[in-house]
Amino acid sequence: MSSDDISLLATKRVRGLTPYLSARRIGGQGHTFLNANEAPSASAFLMSSQKLNRYPDCQPAEVLEAYAAYAGVSPENVLVSRGSDEVIGLLIRTFCEPDEDSIIICPPTYGMYRVSADTNGARVLEIPPREDFSPDAAAIAKALAAPENRVKLVFLCSPNNPTGDTVKREDLLEILEAARGRAIVVADEAYIEFCPEDTFADLLPANPHLVITRTLSKAFGLAGIRCGFALGNPEVLKLLLKVIDPYPICDPVAQIAVQALSKNGIEIMKARVRELNARKESFIKEVSQLSRTEEVFGTKPNYVLFRFRDGEEVFREFARRGVILRDFNDKPRLRDCIRITIGSEQEMQEVLRILKELDK
Ligand SMILES: *Cc1c(COP(=O)(O)O)cnc(C)c1O
Repeated sequence: MSSDDISLLATKRVRGLTPYLSARRIGGQGHTFLNANEAPSASAFLMSSQKLNRYPDCQPAEVLEAYAAYAGVSPENVLVSRGSDEVIGLLIRTFCEPDEDSIIICPPTYGMYRVSADTNGARVLEIPPREDFSPDAAAIAKALAAPENRVKLVFLCSPNNPTGDTVKREDLLEILEAARGRAIVVADEAYIEFCPEDTFADLLPANPHLVITRTLSKAFGLAGIRCGFALGNPEVLKLLLKVIDPYPICDPVAQIAVQALSKNGIEIMKARVRELNARKESFIKEVSQLSRTEEVFGTKPNYVLFRFRDGEEVFREFARRGVILRDFNDKPRLRDCIRITIGSEQEMQEVLRILKELDK
C-alpha cells in the first residue's frame, strides 16, 4: 500500500481539512516570539512524583475548588480541560449534530472555532461584526431565530482575538435572550485577567445556556501545561463530561495548576498583569507617534493589533530580523494589520527600535 492509498482510507471530512496553523506552527526562524500572546517568562513550581503510578482523577477536585474560588463560582460550575481549546471541541461535539447543526462566529476572531467546527462536521455561520468590530447582536438574534439555520452555539470572544475589545454587556444580554431555549452562548475569556472587571461570570446563575471559557495559558503564564476551564451550569458541564476523554488532566498539570491558583500564585499573576498592562500603555504611546501607524485597535488584552502603512512589508522586515509577529493582512477587514504580543521590556524595546528604523 502506498502512502497515497493510506490517505484515501481517511474520511472525506478529514481529507478535506487543512491543519490548524497555530502561531507556534507558523513561527519561523527567530529569536523574539511575539506572535502567540504568551507571557514573557515562566515561574517556578514544585512537583511530587509520589502518585505517578496511579491514574489521575478525570476532574481533580483540588483544581476545581481552586479555580472556583478564584473565579467566584462554585466548584460544580467548573470543568477543567486540556486548555480552553479542548472545551471548544467538546462544546461542538456535544451540541452539534454533524452535517446538520451550525455555530455562529463573528470574524475576524479566534481561529479555533472554525477549525473545531470543520473537524467535527458542524456548519459555520459567519455574522460580520459592526463597523467597530463589536458583535452585531441584532443580526445574531435574527440568525438564531431562523429554524433552518439550526444554530446550536454562538462563539463570542471577549476580549476578541485579534481586535482587542470586550463584548458590550448589552449586546451579550440581547444575544442571551435570543438564544434562550435554543442555543448555547459561549464567551471566550482567555484574556480576561487583563481586564477582570469585564467578566460575564456574574451572568451565569440567570443564564443556564451561558458557558465561559478560561485558560491558564495567557496571564497565568502556563501555555506549556495545557490547562483550561469551562464555567457553566452543572447540567451543561455534565453533558461535556460525557464527551471528554477519561483522564484529560495529568497529575503534574494538576499539581502546577493548584500552585498557580493558590493565594501566592494569584498574586504573582496579578503582578504580571500590572506590569504588562503598564508596558502596553507606554508601547502604544510610542507606536502611535510613528508615521507608519495608521490605526490602533482595542487595547484590553496582552496584545495590540496595529494597522501600518504597507503592513506586509513591516511584518516581513521584522521576520528578517528574527522578530516574529502575527500577520492578519489576509483576514476580513484587517488589511495591513499586525498583532504584537506585549513581551518583556527588552523585547518591546527591540520592536520599537525596528519600527523607528522602518519609519525613516
Ligand atoms: C490562546 C487562546 C485560547 C486557547 O487557550 P488554551 O487554553 O491554550 O487552549 C482560547 N481562546 C482565545 C481567544 C485565545 O487567544
